[in-house]
Amino acid sequence: MLENQKSHSAEQMKIIEKVWAEMENNQELLIEIMRTLVQFETVSPPARNTIAAQEWVALFLQECGFITESIPFYKGDCLLVGKRKGKNNLAYHNLILNGHMDVATIGDRANWQTSPFHLTFNEGRLYGRGTSDMKAAIASNLWLFKIFHEMGIQLNGEVQFQSVVGEEAGEAGTRTLLENGYKADFAIVNDTTNLAIQGQGGCVTGWITVKSPAVYHDGNRRQMIHAGGGLFAASAIEKMMPIIEGLQKLERHWAVTKKYPGFPDGATTINPAYIQGGTNPAFIAGECHLWITVHFYPNESLEEVQKEIENQVQAVCASDPWLKEHQPMIRWGGRSMIEEQGEIFPPLELDEQHTAFQLLNNCHHQVTQKNPIVEMSPSVNDSGWFSYFGIPAISYGPGELTQAHSNDESVALADVLTFAKTMAAFIIQWCNQKREEE
Ligand SMILES: [Zn+2]
Repeated sequence: MLENQKSHSAEQMKIIEKVWAEMENNQELLIEIMRTLVQFETVSPPARNTIAAQEWVALFLQECGFITESIPFYKGDCLLVGKRKGKNNLAYHNLILNGHMDVATIGDRANWQTSPFHLTFNEGRLYGRGTSDMKAAIASNLWLFKIFHEMGIQLNGEVQFQSVVGEEAGEAGTRTLLENGYKADFAIVNDTTNLAIQGQGGCVTGWITVKSPAVYHDGNRRQMIHAGGGLFAASAIEKMMPIIEGLQKLERHWAVTKKYPGFPDGATTINPAYIQGGTNPAFIAGECHLWITVHFYPNESLEEVQKEIENQVQAVCASDPWLKEHQPMIRWGGRSMIEEQGEIFPPLELDEQHTAFQLLNNCHHQVTQKNPIVEMSPSVNDSGWFSYFGIPAISYGPGELTQAHSNDESVALADVLTFAKTMAAFIIQWCNQKREEE
């Protein structure tokens, strides 16, 4: 390391330690921000209830020197991007921090001992809907922006804060932002990882529809299934059966042949999750719709996996005289489970050689004296969209997955503090590192 780089980083370390000391002394503000965020009842579904929360965050960001933009989403929801310009944006690393403002439904209120939308503190844990998933992370980021602002900490590179909605209902909030050209050198999705650095497999839903060109009365059944009946027709429900079997064969083939470190074998599943067909007992079913959920490994592409399933369905059809001439339709994914009954979560591979990955690893170690766990999430979040749009990314945030979506959801305050300190150290170093220094 060169002499000037050394003093450079020593100086940065001094600033980081000052920020950490400030964090130790100013936890009331963190809890206050969390209390406010938890009070907004941003439950999804039904969704369409986040504008007030997003406006509050926008004002908060503006007070910390951010320029904010509100991007329209569904009626009653909007996406928010705040940018804090650096001193030399082009020459230094910039960063996206991404979080979702929507929270899971609370289920039966009677099963809660605590109040879901009123933050409570008990034995080191903060209780309220969204504390683990993921308002504690959003609050921590806002808190550290406030501390940076009040301490007059200027960065060389830009920090972009994305407060999205829709993640809980498979809605394309993050996707919409990235389609609109928001980008950075690196992105951290601060969703629930219990302070592990996580990648993830991909997940896509699809609808398979078998449709007969004509709907027959139940009285025609004999003619379409027995010798000499002479009617070339079929029940759409019965024709879905070989397709489901074909998908099971492919699922088993995947389990036998595919592998990925960090996943148990056979994690690539094709779930026939929901089926709907026919009209009533007086008719032969003219239509049948199968809703499937497909999970795949981080090194597989969405398009590849969809193609494999399409090929399998086609192969099943090729061996059936009726399906051969009445090919099913397949509709993949969708931008919202609520509006389109479809969702996509692309996979995210981890690049452990990436400078930002190593820096975050070091920052976590600086704060906790331990290396973070590096693993594959058993779940999915928006982080895969960054990879899909060519932006290196990881998931890293406080909160436990067992708490996310649960009754009496909570998060450990100590974990929130560790997270905030790690992020502060990361931002100060990453956004003051020159792009060509890599
Ligand atoms: Zn989440």
